[in-house]
Amino acid sequence: MSGTTTAGRTGPTGARRPGTASAPWRNWAGNVSSRPVREESPASAEELAEVVRRAAEDGLRVKTVGTGHSFTAIAATDGVLVRPGLLTGIRRVDRESMTVTVESGTPLKRLNVALAREGLSLTNMGDIMEQTVAGAVSTGTHGTGRDSASIAAQIRGLELVTADGRLLTCSEKENPEIFAAARIGLGALGVITAITFAVEPVFLLTAREEPMSFDRVTAEFDALHAENEHFEFYWFPHTDNCNTKRNNRSAGPAAPLGRVGGWIEDELLSNGVFQLACSLGRAVPPVIPALAKVSSRA
Ligand SMILES: Cc1cc2nc3c(=O)[nH]c(=O)nc-3n(C[C@H](O)[C@H](O)[C@H](O)COP(=O)(O)OP(=O)(O)OC[C@H]3O[C@@H](n4cnc5c(N)ncnc54)[C@H](O)[C@@H]3O)c2cc1C
Repeated sequence: MSGTTTAGRTGPTGARRPGTASAPWRNWAGNVSSRPVREESPASAEELAEVVRRAAEDGLRVKTVGTGHSFTAIAATDGVLVRPGLLTGIRRVDRESMTVTVESGTPLKRLNVALAREGLSLTNMGDIMEQTVAGAVSTGTHGTGRDSASIAAQIRGLELVTADGRLLTCSEKENPEIFAAARIGLGALGVITAITFAVEPVFLLTAREEPMSFDRVTAEFDALHAENEHFEFYWFPHTDNCNTKRNNRSAGPAAPLGRVGGWIEDELLSNGVFQLACSLGRAVPPVIPALAKVSSRA
């Protein structure tokens, strides 16, 4: 790989070629930005190892980003920014060991679709599935779960490029100490190139969402947690109101919201109208208590 830096060069896939001078980087929420010296889009673990070695020769730090969904500056860098766009895809589904091995830059939503086609699923997820698998596990992304833990807990093996450009594989049997640390490595323990997750047969969750008073949620929390595979609640400040969510595995049949009902609930109310309410509250803080009351009832 050449060490030259050529601004704006693109490859056949439209992806940036190695050593491209970088534009400013922003995270998804837009609250963190940085200006990397250059950015790279390696297409293989070998190319990535070369990127890391070259950065070391140039005295630069390396940071790999996922989809930038972290709200903190954890993915920001003024060194070499490694983009994951060409490190994507499913490497292997192993039905005997019930595992899937996936390239580190694969978005969770793509992994989920690929697994569902095989009748398989991860055991647990966070709220969204936009993140890359490596970004999600590196920060300990988690959902709720009485019996199941975070996404990182589902990892059975990892492949990563270390700071000296070596490609290392690790699991509970191979390099176990590195494995333990790299599962939630915060992007500080090398660049993950592939992850092997445990999978299980795909299953159906039945969701029940219900308003509940804050006093009732806190009084009954132990029982709500014990009786449900997944229980969570959101409290609306300035009110006594909470929104509760219960998700439990069920035999079906599946009864998803219709397209219109789903759009009204997820897009119009939860995103559109709620975003308007948040913007109004930011602009005119004294109306926040009233807005919270209306929002919690809606
Ligand atoms: C709308 C929204 C909803 C969310 N919901 C949840 C939730 O329900 N539960 C929860 O726990 N979190 C949640 N998060 C947080 C999110 O899951 C984490 O911030 C996650 O790390 C984002 O993944 P990413 O791919 O965007 O990684 P980035 O934010 O881009 O990077 C995160 C870290 O991972 C490192 N990293 C990325 N790729 C690699 C790699 N290949 N090798 C080594 N390190 C790497 C980066 O260097 C950085 O340190 C949410 C965030 C948003 C914006």
